[in-house]
Amino acid sequence: MIPIIPAGSGKPAEPASTGNPQLWLKPGQIALPGSPPLSLYVHIPWCVRKCPYCDFNSHAAPGGQDSHDIPEDRYLDALRADLEQSLPLVWGRPVHTVFLGGGTPSLLSAAGMDRLLSDIRALLPLDADAEITMEANPGTFEAERFASYRASGINRLSIGIQSFNDAHLQALGRIHGEKEARAAIDIALRHFDNVNLDLMYALPGQTIDECVRDLESALSYGTAHLSLYHLTLEPNTLFAKFPPALPDEDLAYEMQDIIEARTAQAGYRHYETSAYARPHREARHNLNYWRFGDYLGIGAGAHGKLSFPNRILRQMRHKHPATYMDQAMAGNAVQEAREVGADELPFEFMLNALRLTDGVPASSFHDYTGLPLHAIGKMLAAAEQKGLLEADPTTIKPTELGRRFLNDLQEMFLKD
Ligand code: SF4
Repeated sequence: MIPIIPAGSGKPAEPASTGNPQLWLKPGQIALPGSPPLSLYVHIPWCVRKCPYCDFNSHAAPGGQDSHDIPEDRYLDALRADLEQSLPLVWGRPVHTVFLGGGTPSLLSAAGMDRLLSDIRALLPLDADAEITMEANPGTFEAERFASYRASGINRLSIGIQSFNDAHLQALGRIHGEKEARAAIDIALRHFDNVNLDLMYALPGQTIDECVRDLESALSYGTAHLSLYHLTLEPNTLFAKFPPALPDEDLAYEMQDIIEARTAQAGYRHYETSAYARPHREARHNLNYWRFGDYLGIGAGAHGKLSFPNRILRQMRHKHPATYMDQAMAGNAVQEAREVGADELPFEFMLNALRLTDGVPASSFHDYTGLPLHAIGKMLAAAEQKGLLEADPTTIKPTELGRRFLNDLQEMFLKD
């Protein structure tokens, strides 16, 4: 039994089981014309070591210093129990994409991954052509295991490279160096044709030349997708406590401009704030988030968003892996469930949609929030007037200025 927080109250109501869909089917403030596409997110919460800049729900593997050992069987039992308890909330809805994130999902053994995907297939109606992505980190790559992952049904690999520069990788606390990064990409490309490389820029002490070298190294592999992130200091991380010297804003902008030009030259489209894809190779799972689609999130600390005819629900699982496993096995994987208020929906929708270079069709605002478009008419007009949104009534699309000042644009949709 967990507390449900009703829209607008900010306080838990009477305890009730969120697995009972009847609770979410009562009349409410919004009217959705249908269900948005549904994705599944699975969180694997362990890494070999915790990186000093990381604010994800990731924990050093419990086997001790630099261990690869995780309580795999028990965690897979918990994931299956969590999924079984969640089924009444998504009954009969097809799942278009699956994302195994973390943490480091590539710490799972080949047999463990096979079991996880079999459980997912047995319990959910997965599309025949579902995109199934797994995150992997260099240093956890073994050629044999990656062939098995592919055979189990993983069809997209996202590799956390971050840099090809040994000194920068060390400053970032990564367990791999350039050699391991390159070996991981070679193995990945042997088994997968849909590969994403994660790279970061504006790293401690990074020069323009070093940034260009990293970028050119990544481009040389010709992967389907690149994610290029500006390193930021997140609260509650080691870097926030002991901040390293980072390139100043002008230098970071210069790096961003170079990235923009070189990726375009190499045939990648900058289709989202940090995402670059070859034609038709956009990340379908992430696109569903940005379009405000639905996702069931299972695993320690996983978040989910699910729509019902008259309300939208957000869920969060217990964060600590040990607590999560105990609670999931006892039938209580969800720590918090909250209805999103009608007054919060415009900002939540725009926070995602405005990250997309092409924006979204204007009609999707009603389709995915259940609110009429005129509910945000004044905000749209104000953003257009400031030159932050395109003046096209059929789409909600940021201008170039809007993309540069994305935070300001998104904040215009906050409730008063
Ligand atoms: S490998 Fe990734 S998820 Fe794990 S601690 Fe480092 S940044 Fe975080």
